[in-house]
This record gives sequence, C-alpha cells and structure tokens, in this order.
Amino acid sequence: CFCQVTGELDDCACDVETIDGFNNEQLFPKLQTLLESDYFRFYKVNLNKPCPFWTASSHCGLKDCAVKPCSPNEVPEGIVSSSHNKYSEEANEKLSECEKAQHLGAVDVSLSYETREALQNWNKYDEEAERFCVVDDEGSPDSQYVDLLLNPERFTGYKGPEAWQIWNSIYEENCFKPYTINRPLIPNSFHSSSGGEAKTFYSWLEGQCVEKRAFYRLVSGLHASINIHLSARYLLDDTWFQRKWGHNVSEFRQRFDSELTAGEGPKRLRNLYFLYLIELRALAKVLPFFQQPTFHLYTGRPKEDKKHKEQLLQILQLARSFPLHFDETSLFSGENKEAANLREDIRLAFRNISKIMDCVGCFKCRLWGKLQTQGLGTALKILFSEQQIEALPTSSNQRPSFQLNRQEIVSLLNAFGRISTSIRELKNFRRPFLTDEAGG
Ligand code: FAD
Repeated sequence: CFCQVTGELDDCACDVETIDGFNNEQLFPKLQTLLESDYFRFYKVNLNKPCPFWTASSHCGLKDCAVKPCSPNEVPEGIVSSSHNKYSEEANEKLSECEKAQHLGAVDVSLSYETREALQNWNKYDEEAERFCVVDDEGSPDSQYVDLLLNPERFTGYKGPEAWQIWNSIYEENCFKPYTINRPLIPNSFHSSSGGEAKTFYSWLEGQCVEKRAFYRLVSGLHASINIHLSARYLLDDTWFQRKWGHNVSEFRQRFDSELTAGEGPKRLRNLYFLYLIELRALAKVLPFFQQPTFHLYTGRPKEDKKHKEQLLQILQLARSFPLHFDETSLFSGENKEAANLREDIRLAFRNISKIMDCVGCFKCRLWGKLQTQGLGTALKILFSEQQIEALPTSSNQRPSFQLNRQEIVSLLNAFGRISTSIRELKNFRRPFLTDEAGG
C-alpha cells in the first residue's frame, strides 16, 4: 500500500524519500518560479466577512497579523478586468455577450446558433453545486487584491484559546454532524493532554469509513503545514533596530518531535505527505483542462502569459510523471446512493471549514487559511470531476463540462506551493547541524 487509507489509521507506509527527492529537486524550484508571476501572486479575497458562527475578536493589535492590500494600479489591468469572469479573454467576451443578450431580454440573432447555445449553457452551468468551499464574492467592495509575495505566511503570534477554538471547530467538522454528535474532538485535549482521550479518539476514527479518515488526515496535514511554516519563518529577534526571521528548531521540535508529542508529531507529518499526494494527484488530473487552446493565464501581456502557461503545463506534466500516485479510486468509488450521500456530506463539511476561516482573528492567518482551504477544495473538486474533465469539449462553442475560475486556479497552485514548501522545509529541520538561527 502506498499512502492509502484502507485499514488502520496509520497504515500508510509513505515512501518519504521518493516524495522528498521528487519535490525538493524537481517540482519545488519550478513551482516557486511560477508562483512569482503576476498571474499567481495576486489573490482577491474578502478579509472582512463576519464570522457566521460566533462573535470573533480580532488580533489586529498584533503587527505581524496585518495584511497590506494592493493599490488599484499595482494589479495588471488584464487581471482586474477578467477577475470575476472566466479565465480567458475569449471567455470574457462570451460572457459579456451573454450578459448583453440577457439585458436585452432576447437572444441576439446576430450570434450564430452554436454561440447562442453555448451562451445558454454557460448560464446553466451551476458552479456552486460543484464547489467544496464557499468562495468570496469577488464583486463585493470588501474584496481586495493581495500580493501574496508581500504578505508571506510566517509566524504571527496568533495563538491561545482563540486559535484553539478555530482548530477545534475545524476538527469537529470531521464528526459529520448530526450522525456522530458528542464525539471527542481531537487527540490531546487542548488544555491538558490525556492519553486516554487520544486513545478514544483514535479508536473512534479507526471505526470510521475510509473517506472520513482521509478527511481528518487532510485537515491534520494542513494544520501541520501551517505549523511548519511558522517554525521555519519565526520571528527570532525583535528589537528596535532589527527584526530577524528564521528557523526556530525548538518550536519545530515542540510540535513534531516524537518524544515531545507522545508520538503524535510523526503522525502529523505523515498526514502532511498524504495531503501532498492528494493535491499532486489533482494537479496531474487537471492537465487536460489547462491544455485547452482557449485557456490563457490572462494578465493582458500576451508574451508573458504564453511563457507562464508553458511553465504551468510543464509542472502539471511533471506531476503526471510522479511514479507513486495516490490511488483515490478507493475513495468515493461506490456508485450507489450511500456513496453519493457520503461525498455530499464531505463536500458540505469542507464548505463549513471554509466558512470557519472567516472567524480567524488574525488577518494574515485568515488570508492564508482561506487560500489553502480554497486550494484544497479545488483539488477535491478536480478529483471528483474526472469524467467531466475527460469529456472537455474540443470546440469552444460546446458546453464546458468542467470549469475553474481564476480564484480557484490561483488558490490551487499556491496552496500546493505551501505544502511543497513545507516538505522542502522538513529537509532543513532534519539537517543535524541546524540550530536555531538565533543560536538557540
Ligand atoms: P495548535 O497548533 O493551536 O493546535 C491545537 C491542538 O491541536 C494541539 O494541542 C494538538 O492537540 C492538536 N494538533 C496540533 N497539530 C495537529 C495536527 N497537525 N494534526 C492534528 N492535531 C493537531 N500562526 C502563525 O504564527 N502564523 C500563521 O500563519 C498561522 N496561521 C493559522 C491559520 C489558521 C487557520 C489557524 C486556525 C491558526 C493559525 N496560526 C498561525 C496559529 C497556529 O496554527 C497555532 O494555533 C498556534 O501557533 C498555537 O499553537 P499550539 O501549540 O497552541 O497548538
């Protein structure tokens, strides 16, 4: 078995060396270059949405939680004008034709039959029903572009009961209410860790079906990735004359060392690898969508856009070439009603997690939390749309059987970039000579 969740919770014997070699030497450097391009660095997000679940207090007092939005002229015009539409100039033109026809209240007879039919189908296409997360309304005045390179994910100082409440609620989604209410939430209770509780949790989890265990492992992998980032880009020195960021080995050990975490740390790192494989698999599967000639990474600068599309295709082809892909056919493979219900339960639970992100009190953490849940949600959408991707039309006038908008594309690649960076960081933390860069 290669990183499958079939039997015991920890049955996954990931070939960590293969993944490390593939990621660190081949994929990571290419991905970093791509993510620096204009298409991928600007992400539109609404950080001011109220928390739908409780009254959230804000950590805006922490200076490292601040997010600096872009001023309007920083974002390429092509991105701004196409953002709430589809993914290419051609698609934008089609959409505006469609909107025009709707406003006139009649079908524009000057359009060809095929185009009219395509426009009607575009209209019918219900994107929301496919999504695994709730996306921000890009048209809202509260939604703003953020330059991800200028607002890196790193240590912010966000912690304590508020951060725990978020993680707690996220793991609670794993319980798939209302079927399993009153379940213990996560191993090691937040305040006093008791082995007994952890045991109850794991025996409960092992009794769950593969899909629910996979869901837990994805969330835990995301949690591990965030905590690796904050340990790797820690504020080591904060004086009036300098602020120094770097690796904090003791912070990393506190969270992942087997002895210091009663064996939990290594399991969490395995969940990170599991998440990596799931997202990698989604990238491999979505290649035909990006290969469509009508697809452009549209910023309005044709030469650059062409180069970046080529880089993206190279990365996706590399993802395809990975020899030990996760076999997701063991998940949601049933055709019956029960399997469909389960898939829907998981989609809804995941959508709830994306809503919980609006309760994160630290804006920087909220930004990256939203981006990463949207990215993972997009990966799941891809994995469960295999047939639709295979049925993608060859002509642009046919109904698209599968769609991704710019936000989904940007979040998918950036979220994977985070996981890929975490795996690359593990190599740094493993280096025996590495001590805290502050000298600790
Ligand atoms: P926490 O990480 O808060 O974990 C709480 C409990 O969950 C632990 O006691 C343990 O029992 C369990 N647990 C821990 N890790 C895992 C895992 N991988 N799998 C399963 N269970 C686990 N802080 C920053 O400095 N920078 C950021 O960018 C940042 N982003 C965040 C984004 C979100 C969405 C959230 C909710 C928090 C973010 N934080 C960030 C805060 C950070 O994740 C921790 O919550 C914080 O550092 C406090 O850590 P802790 O040691 O108290 O345990």
